[in-house]
Amino acid sequence: MRIVMTGSGYVGLVSGACLADFGHDVICVDKDARKIELLQGGGVPIYEPGLADLIARNVKAGRLTFTTDLAGSVSQADVVFIAVGTPARRGDGHADLSYVYAAAQEIASNLSGFTVIVTKSTVPVGTGDEVDRIVRETNPDAQFAVASNPEFLREGAAIQDFKRPDRIVVGIEDERARPVMEEVYRPLYLNQAPIQFTGRRTSELIKYAANAFLAMKITYINEMADLCENVGADVQQVARGIGLDNRIGSKFLHAGPGYGGSCFPKDTLALVKTAEDAGAPIRLIETTVAINESRKRAMARKVVAVCNGSVRGKTIAVLGLTFKPNTDDMRDAPSIAIIQALQDGGAQVRAYDPEGMDAARAMMSGVEFCDNPYVAAQGAAAVVIVTEWDALRALDLPRLKGIMSGDGLVDLRNIYRPADAEAAGFVYVSVGRGAAP
Ligand code: NAD
Repeated sequence: MRIVMTGSGYVGLVSGACLADFGHDVICVDKDARKIELLQGGGVPIYEPGLADLIARNVKAGRLTFTTDLAGSVSQADVVFIAVGTPARRGDGHADLSYVYAAAQEIASNLSGFTVIVTKSTVPVGTGDEVDRIVRETNPDAQFAVASNPEFLREGAAIQDFKRPDRIVVGIEDERARPVMEEVYRPLYLNQAPIQFTGRRTSELIKYAANAFLAMKITYINEMADLCENVGADVQQVARGIGLDNRIGSKFLHAGPGYGGSCFPKDTLALVKTAEDAGAPIRLIETTVAINESRKRAMARKVVAVCNGSVRGKTIAVLGLTFKPNTDDMRDAPSIAIIQALQDGGAQVRAYDPEGMDAARAMMSGVEFCDNPYVAAQGAAAVVIVTEWDALRALDLPRLKGIMSGDGLVDLRNIYRPADAEAAGFVYVSVGRGAAP
């Protein structure tokens, strides 16, 4: 099949490269000329494990190309995916669909022959109807169907997730789209990945319902962690104890600094807005959003507490900046709010992250970025671990302590054993591991 991927970001680039690997001819399009130039020159604009090799292999095989020319690519395509960003709109939290609609308009003008237009971007219920209307109005003669095919990949494990998905969801209103979408995903279909065909609106909602549920699950264990701290219980044991129940499951039960990233914060907010507008408010998610929002600054208060009540004039080392390991994505990372709160309290922040520092530099001011964790810890009153990168899991604790001026270790991912940290001379604070009263 000839496939065009509109938008070559975290989702578009991974999806495009994986679809090429299935044997399809894929053109990845982006309006960001620097991104496309980099890709054409053999570079990769994001950090995602395995992606550079996958792209190189498929470019070499002649199945994957890159261009800024959406109009020129569309006319040859059987399927045109839309994988552009849908950030939260400033001011009201609704999903900003301007990129999706602009892409739809440009695609519409250049269609030739029957084409399936597929929204892979996470879009609110009814967006497919609007894309359909835009295409029909822009090009009344076009032969097309609009489908919804939300993406469930996780950054950091994106290729594996795309190639071995738990399910593929496809929303259609026009039966002509069904065999085309089956053909796109045939290799996975044959591999027994369940493909669920639904109506378009249902498919759009499934994505939000899934993300909001996961965000709620994280928030649940985070609140349980707070309770554990106050009653002398251990949240990791609680998580294991409930997670072994198959009805609950062990995933997404790691207490931490609150969810972040490019999806959960904006998607929970957008679902809340959609539900309000539809007259069916989802109060569980409204509350989830509010709890998560206040949690990040609460994490900064743990640091203040370990520094005897004030960080003014003190150096704090923050280790791990991205919203999770194995990505360079800094969008809505908890580290941003934590660092801001520490700076508000008068702290000097020194930071280290294995892959996220370029993106972080563009989003943070007054932070000194360091080459490794030990340089960051120099002269620090406390070290805060925000992201559980492998490189941060086995720090030489006595060495770290020796470099610092103080003795605080705030481990927001529970990656150290309290006894080890205390043996190295730290006052150790983690999440939800309460001491018996
Ligand atoms: P991104 O910002 O990394 O990539 C979007 C790309 O689209 C950018 O490179 C941008 O330049 C390009 N673009 C915008 N308008 C364009 C146009 N008219 N023509 C060509 N290119 C255009 O975003 P992302 O993280 O890949 O997310 C894309 C969508 O997928 C969002 O709706 C997101 O919610 C959803 N999603 C993301 C993830 C994730 O882990 N990042 C997972 C599942 C779903």
